[in-house]
Amino acid sequence: MRPDFAVKLDHEHHQRLEAGLVRRVRTAGDARPGRIVVDGRELIDFGSNDYLGLARHPRLIEALVIAAKAGVGARASHLLGGHHAAHDALQQALAAWIGYPRALLFSTGYMAAQGALTALLGRHDLCVQDRLNHACLIDGARLVDADLRRYRHGDAADAARVLAAAPDRRALLATDSVFSMDGDIAPLSPLAALAGPERAWLMVDEAHGLGVLGPQGRGACAAASLGPDEVQVWMGTLGKALGGFGAVIAGSDDLIDALVNGARSYIYTTALPPALARAMLVAVGLARGADAGRAHLQALIAHLRAGAADQGWELLPSATPIQPLLVGDSPAALALSQRLEAAGCYCPAVRPPTVPKGSARLRISLSAAHTIEDVEALLVALGKREMAGQL
Ligand SMILES: *Cc1c(COP(=O)(O)O)cnc(C)c1O
Repeated sequence: MRPDFAVKLDHEHHQRLEAGLVRRVRTAGDARPGRIVVDGRELIDFGSNDYLGLARHPRLIEALVIAAKAGVGARASHLLGGHHAAHDALQQALAAWIGYPRALLFSTGYMAAQGALTALLGRHDLCVQDRLNHACLIDGARLVDADLRRYRHGDAADAARVLAAAPDRRALLATDSVFSMDGDIAPLSPLAALAGPERAWLMVDEAHGLGVLGPQGRGACAAASLGPDEVQVWMGTLGKALGGFGAVIAGSDDLIDALVNGARSYIYTTALPPALARAMLVAVGLARGADAGRAHLQALIAHLRAGAADQGWELLPSATPIQPLLVGDSPAALALSQRLEAAGCYCPAVRPPTVPKGSARLRISLSAAHTIEDVEALLVALGKREMAGQL
C-alpha cells in the first residue's frame, strides 16, 4: 500500500510534541520602537533584529509613504521592466557605503545567498563552510550539489585543513560574519589570509554585521579592514539593522554580471517594490550616520553582560547585540522564556533544528531603541540564577 502524507505529518507532529519542539507563530500588533505587542500586551522586545531601531523610524516611514504614491509593486522582474531608478540609486548607495565596485539587490537574504552560490558553484566545486552558518548558505551549496564540507565553528585552522585536502578543486569559503544564533564574530582575517594563497574565494554573509559593526556601520569585514580583494562575495541584508526588507550581494563587475545572467533567484522573481527601495535608501543614510546609536548599543551590551554575570547567568561570549543565554534543554528554555514574558520581556526561545541539539537558548537581542532601564527590567525579570531553579 502506498504510504500516506497525512500519516507522516501526524507522526512528525507527535515527535515534535514529545520533544517540546512544536513552533507557534505569534501575531505582533503595532508597537513603539523597542516594544512588541503580543496577545494584547506590550512587552519590551528582546527578540528583533532591528538593531538600530530603524524599522519604525519616522523618516523611513515618511519615505515609504511618499514613494508609494507612485505605486506599490515593481510589476515585473528586474530583467523584464521591473528595475526602477530607485533600485539603481539604492544599489549605488550600498556599494559606496561598503566600498565595493557594484551591488545587486535581491528580494531576501535567503535568495541572495542562494543566487550567489548557485551562480558560482558547480557540482565539482568545493564549498567550505562554518558548521554554524545560516541555513541559506548551506542550502545554496546543496541546491547545486557542490562538494559541501563544514569546518568546526570559528576554527580557521580547521577550514585550512579542509581546503588543503582538495587543492585541485575550485573552492569557495563561506561564512556568516556575525553568527545569527550565537552572536560571535567569524575569524575573518585568518579566513581571508588562508583563502588568498589557496586561490579560494571568500564569501561573507553580513546579515547581522551591516549597520552594527565597523566604521560607519559598514560591517565586520570593514572592521577587519577586508574589502573586495579579500572578500570577493559580500552579502548583506536590509531586513535587520536597516529596518526594512531585501538583500544585496556586492562584488566585482564580473561577479555582478554573472549574477544578473545566472542567479535564478534574481532572474525568476519580481523585483523589490521600488517604494521600499526608496525607503531603504534613506535607511542607508541613517545607518551610516548612526554612530551614536552604535555607541548606545555597546553600552547596553556591556550593561546586560555585567548585570547577568552579577546574577549568576552565563551569556555566550559575544560582543554584538545578539546575547544568547544558553539553557540546553528545550522545554526549560521555553519555560524561562514564558517566565520572562510574564514579567514583561519578550525573549523567544530558540530550539533545534535552528540550533544544534541540546543547545536550546534564549536569543536576547538588543537594539538602540532600548534604554538602560529596559535592560534593567530584563535583569530584574531574570533574577538570580540560583533562585531560578532547575534549568
Ligand atoms: C536573516 C539572515 C539571512 C536571511 O535574510 P532574509 O533577508 O531574512 O532572508 C541570511 N543570513 C543570515 C546570517 C541571517 O541571519
